[in-house]
Amino acid sequence: MDEFELIRRYFAKLTPPRNDVALGIGDDAAVLTPPRGHEVVVTTDTLVAGRHFPDDTDPQAVGWKALAVNLSDLAAMGAEPRWFTLALTLRMADPEWLAGFAAGLGALAREAGIALVGGDTTQGPLSITITAMGTVPAGKAIRRTGAKVGDAICVTGTLGDAALALKLGQGESGGRGESSSAELESLRLRLNRPWPRIAAGAAVRGLAHAAIDLSDGLAGDLGHILAASKVGAEIDATRLPMSPAFKALSEPEQRLALQVSAGDDYELCICLPPANIRKLQARLEMPLTQVGRIVRGKALTLLDSHGKTIALEPYGYRHFA
Ligand code: ADP
Ligand code: MG
Repeated sequence: MDEFELIRRYFAKLTPPRNDVALGIGDDAAVLTPPRGHEVVVTTDTLVAGRHFPDDTDPQAVGWKALAVNLSDLAAMGAEPRWFTLALTLRMADPEWLAGFAAGLGALAREAGIALVGGDTTQGPLSITITAMGTVPAGKAIRRTGAKVGDAICVTGTLGDAALALKLGQGESGGRGESSSAELESLRLRLNRPWPRIAAGAAVRGLAHAAIDLSDGLAGDLGHILAASKVGAEIDATRLPMSPAFKALSEPEQRLALQVSAGDDYELCICLPPANIRKLQARLEMPLTQVGRIVRGKALTLLDSHGKTIALEPYGYRHFA
């Protein structure tokens, strides 16, 4: 199977057509038609085998996640996903791996209604780069720069599930008695099949000052908003939302680190005027939790149940660090 056969077999018909694709896979480049009055929002993310996922990871999970991390970035901007390209580097054309990868990728692409419009296929160490494009009404993209003193800091969903799944998967003790396999499975799904918060991102437009998706942990990612907006934040450790599975399978003393310093939740962190919280919640189909507030200064402070400061390492994962 050569490069062209591979593209035809696995990718040429992976996603349903969209009428804003004037020309898709098969030419030197794609031609796309953004709606009038909208801006195009573009993001790219690479997953490298051995760095972002173990080589023997289920290829369906790899395909799903490679797109999910990009859709999560579009969601954080408030963008509606439309098109993506796929640059795939493979050691060999393994039909079993490719079929699984395409199935995972295609499943999320169809869920999100995003079309694969092109890419590149090369031989080398396994690596996947997706560039995703979406649109927002002109001027309405949600940036990292707008957070204001007095804003509430809210997160969608729950925090720490993916990090706990990773920890349990690595053979460390989850503690706390027998883990029901349904709970463990729900954590694994959070790690391997994250649902990008696309609808939530669009709902946030017009209500929030700033937003970011949580790919590196709350402390690190909120830190990016703080730096960009030149403000500080206080986070109430006791308010961080936990899933039932997380509560059941984590040790109380490990929770804070999993929820604040570990990544991969792909929830949204949103800074908005407190008066807008109810309006936003009414637009969402998932829980929104206020976890803190924007304050003067530039520090990120974590508070315990008595309002006392907890020390933390405020950094997410950094390549080349
Ligand atoms: P060129 O040599 O002109 O850059 P290619 O031979 O790399 O074109 O690709 C042929 C067509 O297949 C192009 O339309 C390209 O966008 C598409 N394509 C290549 N690899 C992939 C892939 N992994 N997924 C989707 N489309 C791809
Ligand atoms: Mg060409």
